[in-house]
Amino acid sequence: MAVEAIKSHIGGRAVDGSGTPFDTVNPATGQVIGRVAAASPADVGRAVAAAKAAFDGWAGTTGTQRGRILREAVRLLRANRDRLARMEVEDTGKPIAEALSVDIDSGADAIEYFAGLAPSLHGTHHDFGRAFAYTRREPLGVVGAIGAWNYPIQIACWKSGPALACGNTMVFKPSELTPMTAVALAEIFAEAGLPPGVFNVVQGKGDVGHALVTHPEIAKVSLTGSVPTGRKVAAAAAGAMKHVTMELGGKSPLIVFADADVENAVKAAMMANFYTQGEICSNGTRVFVEASLHNRFMDALVARTQKMRIGDPMDPETQVGALISADHRAKVLGYVEAGVKAGARLVCGGRAPADPALAGGYFVEPAIFDACHDDMSIVREEIFGPVMTVLTFTDEDEAVRRANATEYGLAAGVFTRDLARGHRVVARLQAGTCWINTYNITPVEIPFGGYKQSGIGRENGLAALEHYTQLKSVYVETGDVDSPY
Ligand code: NDP
Repeated sequence: MAVEAIKSHIGGRAVDGSGTPFDTVNPATGQVIGRVAAASPADVGRAVAAAKAAFDGWAGTTGTQRGRILREAVRLLRANRDRLARMEVEDTGKPIAEALSVDIDSGADAIEYFAGLAPSLHGTHHDFGRAFAYTRREPLGVVGAIGAWNYPIQIACWKSGPALACGNTMVFKPSELTPMTAVALAEIFAEAGLPPGVFNVVQGKGDVGHALVTHPEIAKVSLTGSVPTGRKVAAAAAGAMKHVTMELGGKSPLIVFADADVENAVKAAMMANFYTQGEICSNGTRVFVEASLHNRFMDALVARTQKMRIGDPMDPETQVGALISADHRAKVLGYVEAGVKAGARLVCGGRAPADPALAGGYFVEPAIFDACHDDMSIVREEIFGPVMTVLTFTDEDEAVRRANATEYGLAAGVFTRDLARGHRVVARLQAGTCWINTYNITPVEIPFGGYKQSGIGRENGLAALEHYTQLKSVYVETGDVDSPY
């Protein structure tokens, strides 16, 4: 297989980075698919300078002009769905069925939504008789954005859509493990007519991210990543009082009451744990089931999970692909071992599949642990793989207390047929996004982000506009200045 040279994209051009190059592999085969020309700190400086140079021009366009270019990028994203989805599958190991139905389109949806809002961005007017005031909603400047590897193009779109619609420019660093589609997005933006320098991509590892975050010309940092990285990045940004959006990890609860529709609850629990091999930040990995429903729930859950098709991610029938890397698989299998040692009952999965055709990739069969306790590491820590933990509870207060007993607060779900209880429980859950009788649905119209350690700020929805703009208040006197002097 040809090994692709993966470059940065600076000032409208593909650029060979002058940092230390590294290989990127297809997680489903372990084969090298690309050689990444990493950026050096000097390259990061060039990218930020290009974004800075493009800022006045881009911020000076009207919202309608920005929206038009962004909508053309949306058209191109959708027209290139197949090509981009295949690229994403090669890079991430996720099933092509998912990439075709979710990844590209949810990225395109975000850009389309903010393209539509761009012409309507406005300030307010305040009348004080012979004086008046108004506010201007202004862009922040150059945004430094850093992505995780689980939804590479979607994350790049979720960040660039609102940032660019608001008149900012951006330097984006994808995860070192998934360098390909951010460059494809930069090319699409260029083809759509985005001026050079408005959206730039720098390739590299954490050191490149650090150089970006600490660059003095970066006005705002937007990170999607783990809590430990978020702490480091937020601390580095705080040194220069930069704005931050932090989309971080989670260990979210899914509470299933005894009156729930069992089939729907089981389907949602599987979606909440096994979609994208469990590599989703908002996953409901602590499934609290009311004790009287436990046996019925488990029977249905295990029967369905055992039917899941694990295999070549490029096969449209595949439902479970490969984990992102050998290291990550080792981490996930380490958690499975720790769960067994701690006394949880491994009901199914949790191993590499026996199929020799999959031996080169980083596959793990979806695992369900029953008889879990709140203090086990598999229940407390984010595993970011296909590992579900099931716990039982006996009353509502107990379920809420245990669901909230975590440093995380990204998401939560409740299954019940009792409408009053559903709303009462979500009102008490400490989480940025809550679902009643479903899980992991994230339309662009609703804000997404974390409580507690799971993050700062919100992506999507009108709320994102607050995080990519700043307000200037202007007071205008039309009469004489009142003065005691
Ligand atoms: P990491 O925190 O390891 O990395 C995130 C990004 O930060 C990567 O691009 C990484 O580069 C970069 N980075 C690492 N160190 C630094 C540093 N010191 N300064 C600046 N940048 C740095 O997360 P993963 O990529 O492993 O992604 C998984 C995590 O992301 C999970 O915790 C998951 O929950 C979370 N996530 C959160 C989402 C949300 O919206 N809340 C959505 C998706 C994922 P490199 O890859 O090269 O190390």
